[in-house]
Amino acid sequence: MDAFKCPNCGGGIEYDIEKESMKCSYCNSLIDRKLYQNYLDKHDLYVTVELTCPQCGATMLSYDDTLATFCNYCGSSVMFNRRIVEDTKPVGIIPFAITKEQAAKSYRAYMEQFGFAPNWVHEEGEQKLLGIYMPYYVYDVTAKGHTTEKAETRLELADETKVSEYDVSFDMKAYYNGVRFDAAETFPDFLSESIDDFADEKAVAFQSSYLAGYYADGGNVSEEIYNDLVEDLVRDDIKTSEVQVKARYDVTPENMDPDVKVRAQKLLLPVWLNTHRIGDRVCYAAINGQTGKVAGEVPIDKWKYLKYAIVIAAFLSIPMNLFLTLKPSIFLIISIAIILIFGIQLNSVRKDVYIHEHYGDDLGKLGIPNLTKYEFRKPKGWSFRGWWRTILGIAIAVVVLISRTPQDDIYYGVAIFNILLVLWMAFDLIRQQNKLASRDIPVFTMERGGDRNV
Ligand SMILES: [Zn+2]
Ligand SMILES: [Zn+2]
Repeated sequence: MDAFKCPNCGGGIEYDIEKESMKCSYCNSLIDRKLYQNYLDKHDLYVTVELTCPQCGATMLSYDDTLATFCNYCGSSVMFNRRIVEDTKPVGIIPFAITKEQAAKSYRAYMEQFGFAPNWVHEEGEQKLLGIYMPYYVYDVTAKGHTTEKAETRLELADETKVSEYDVSFDMKAYYNGVRFDAAETFPDFLSESIDDFADEKAVAFQSSYLAGYYADGGNVSEEIYNDLVEDLVRDDIKTSEVQVKARYDVTPENMDPDVKVRAQKLLLPVWLNTHRIGDRVCYAAINGQTGKVAGEVPIDKWKYLKYAIVIAAFLSIPMNLFLTLKPSIFLIISIAIILIFGIQLNSVRKDVYIHEHYGDDLGKLGIPNLTKYEFRKPKGWSFRGWWRTILGIAIAVVVLISRTPQDDIYYGVAIFNILLVLWMAFDLIRQQNKLASRDIPVFTMERGGDRNV
């Protein structure tokens, strides 16, 4: 895009804060507002303030930049670096319909279902919620092509069914619209997908005045990242859908190799965001600013969990005492079963954590080309660190069982040892689970495209 140049000398322009006007950075002449506005309109641009977090590099667009003292992406209190930028006008915007108070109420109601969540989860809300317009790409897809497919007609006669096969050739055209992906690298896919019950038809034409009082994420994920994915989705859908041809044959166009055209448009959708920082990690919660739907990363408080486990164990021990007539070897076998369950659980969570920590669950962050690269980095099926406690516990128990020693104490002793291992694994499980419910403090590249400079 050709940047706006000074009409006098052809120099670049900048914003003069004192004069509240655009001026040439070379000859210092003030730029005629009308002239500049015409340029913006012609290129579908609007002017706003870009805030950059000095801690993590995340950027937000805002008009009320004086309010910003808290970065909602890394959870730190910061003084933002600010500059005036031109940004491409989105095609549409869904204005906020949920107030901050309503959003906080939905947030607290949602969090109530998590009994093991740490207290801060229930205490947060209103004071920390930040209203952000998140950019989404909405895809319109046209697919057309020619294909030849096998079709059949069935004729039911009195005592037999007559099947006739035909080759049917036909042209096909299919339209898809409304396929949607978030365009902000800063916004985790898990959250954007979980709260995505936006009603597109409520979108209105974009006007920069809608941004007053809110922030907007400029969106730094290129639309091409999703293009291949959208194209594949459409191809798969066509190959598996049934169409009626010539009002006679029901055909599934398996052989269709359509010509697919993908068009993306940027839409701003309203989201309330809550950020909580724990050490060097953050937990996000997001509330749909149109519908109030909530999704959040909710960690487990391990001490709350332990208290609960003790109560359960106490209850279980009552019938256990009644069963004391059971052979001690049965206790040992039960402990093997429990340690095995925890071992399987722990290792499946460890795998999820690996994928999570490598952004394998975040397309916008990873990008489609990297998905295949990521396949190579997938964790091996087996890891000694994940399994050694399970193996140790089971091995000792099996040795005792095979030895058939008459000493009951040994059976009980090994069973208790196994339960202690399980407790250790349970804490590990919670730690891994909490990794899934949080993420590393994000670090974003601070370099932006040159044509965004005013
Ligand atoms: Zn000039
Ligand atoms: Zn930050």
